[in-house]
Amino acid sequence: MSDFEGLRALVTGGASGIGRATAELLAERGAQVAVLDLDPSPVGKPLLAHRADVTDDASVREAVAAAVADLGGLDVLVNNAGIGAQGTVEDNPDDEWHRVYDVNVLGMVRTTRVCLPHLRASAHAAIVNTCSIAATAGLPQRALYSATKGAVYSLTLAMAADHVREGIRVNCVNPGTVDTPWVGRLLDAAPDPAAERAALEARQPTGRLVSAAEVAGAIAYLASPLSGATTGTALAVDGGMQGL
Ligand code: NAD
Repeated sequence: MSDFEGLRALVTGGASGIGRATAELLAERGAQVAVLDLDPSPVGKPLLAHRADVTDDASVREAVAAAVADLGGLDVLVNNAGIGAQGTVEDNPDDEWHRVYDVNVLGMVRTTRVCLPHLRASAHAAIVNTCSIAATAGLPQRALYSATKGAVYSLTLAMAADHVREGIRVNCVNPGTVDTPWVGRLLDAAPDPAAERAALEARQPTGRLVSAAEVAGAIAYLASPLSGATTGTALAVDGGMQGL
């Protein structure tokens, strides 16, 4: 039996990019997977799809209840829904800080709060948060986004400490620049998208962007009993960006 067989997983932001690749990988390996997203319509069988906005507590409660009913319980929560923000502290007004925090940080808090009672009933409970190298790398023009991911990193450590004795592991992945629709949208907004992509690739130690499937592999590892003694860690999936 595979390490994923029988696992019941919920992936937020699971209709695109890293979340979609994660949901598909977990399902391929034998898990039952539900996706929660603002727009779950791109998701097809065998994934179960639920519409929810992680900034809206009532919609999260409703979607998680429906997903857990479909799955017959919950072993794995992948807190992945997130949005970007560019600029220095001078560029974003307070309401933009609140908006991005609401998705990237409070979205995880709301979803986790509702999932914890179900995870306590699991023999293999794991939470994996999608963080970023932005949490620790000091990237230029990313003050707000980095601050949200710094919060996700701290939240991961705190949640790991709070829930380890309940048998719930909590870890995060710190991706570098990943080739997802999000990055595609940023490149498309540049005057010369192809040149911008080439410049971005040239800045990577590997000469290429990280793939969504590679981040999914790290999330799947942290979600499964393969990492059964690992909690409170951040796994970098950045093609060597950090520390170079
Ligand atoms: P993406 O835009 O391709 O996918 C994000 C998904 O989240 C979308 O399906 C979107 O509908 C959903 N979503 C957004 N706001 C939501 C909300 N309020 N409620 C429910 N769902 C919502 O992006 P991606 O690149 O796959 O990013 C996924 C995660 O990975 C994010 O947390 C992001 O911060 C993180 N990340 C991405 C990169 C990268 O380079 N792409 C790097 C590091 C970290």
